[in-house]
Amino acid sequence: MSDKPLASRVALVTGSTSGIGLAIARRLAAAGAEVVLNGFGDPAEIERLRDEMAETTGVRVHYVPADLAVPAEAGELVQRAIAIGGRIDVLVNNAGIQHVAPVQDFPDERWEAVIAINLSSAFYTTKAALPDMQARGWGRIINIASAHGKVASINKAAYVAAKHGIVGLTKVVALENAKVDITCNAICPGWVDTPLVRKQIVARAQAQGITVEAATRSLVGEKQPSERFVQPEHIAELALFLTTEAGGSITGAAYSIDGGWTAQ
Ligand code: NAD
Repeated sequence: MSDKPLASRVALVTGSTSGIGLAIARRLAAAGAEVVLNGFGDPAEIERLRDEMAETTGVRVHYVPADLAVPAEAGELVQRAIAIGGRIDVLVNNAGIQHVAPVQDFPDERWEAVIAINLSSAFYTTKAALPDMQARGWGRIINIASAHGKVASINKAAYVAAKHGIVGLTKVVALENAKVDITCNAICPGWVDTPLVRKQIVARAQAQGITVEAATRSLVGEKQPSERFVQPEHIAELALFLTTEAGGSITGAAYSIDGGWTAQ
């Protein structure tokens, strides 16, 4: 594989101001793609990220804000990205949030938010991006699902429903576009050390009266046989492979990258 397999490609990565999305955006930029970033955060910090990524990779890096809890903003994000980059070749639906509570106590508003951001936004961005990909006969759509797209855990009704849902959406988009060179795949990570998981670790430490280190060990060890976090950079390498010509025969798949979690 050339070291710039994505030269002349344009990639939009949702939720790329932090964590897994940021690692994927960095990797795609390093592989030559012009990148459109999206996500929340301090504007000065986002500007710094954008500059740093553009400088280290030599590609154009843009930032388009959008609240993906709002369906219209998801479609507009794609339209603005196409206006800026001329097209979207690679769409990575990564933005996500978590809320933890048993079903009987799960706040309706949190259910709606998790489903909107983790599932519906991927439908709206994909719907907006597909006509242009279909017109050009090439596209790569990658949905960041989770081990929770394959198996469940207690207290995560909305997250597990959204992640199972996005694995299903992935298969439908793959089948509908199978005859052209447009693929759609899901990546299903286990525990990754990002702000989304940090919140759960701190909550566990407080609830059990244990240190953050002990809570980290118990959280990861409980589900993930490797007892090590998955690295965002490893997920980014898998995402990059799926965007390449060599990845062109893989579609409708849901790849586990979870230290053995779902092998149990
Ligand atoms: P993170 O909190 O570090 O990043 C989430 C990103 O989504 C941020 O850029 C944030 O600004 C953005 N975002 C959140 N709400 C948004 C909204 N309404 N509109 C636009 N952007 C929004 O989390 P992460 O762990 O990197 O998670 C990224 C994806 O990976 C999520 O879909 C998550 O479910 C999935 N995932 C994470 C883990 C893990 O262990 N961290 C495991 C499996 C799957």
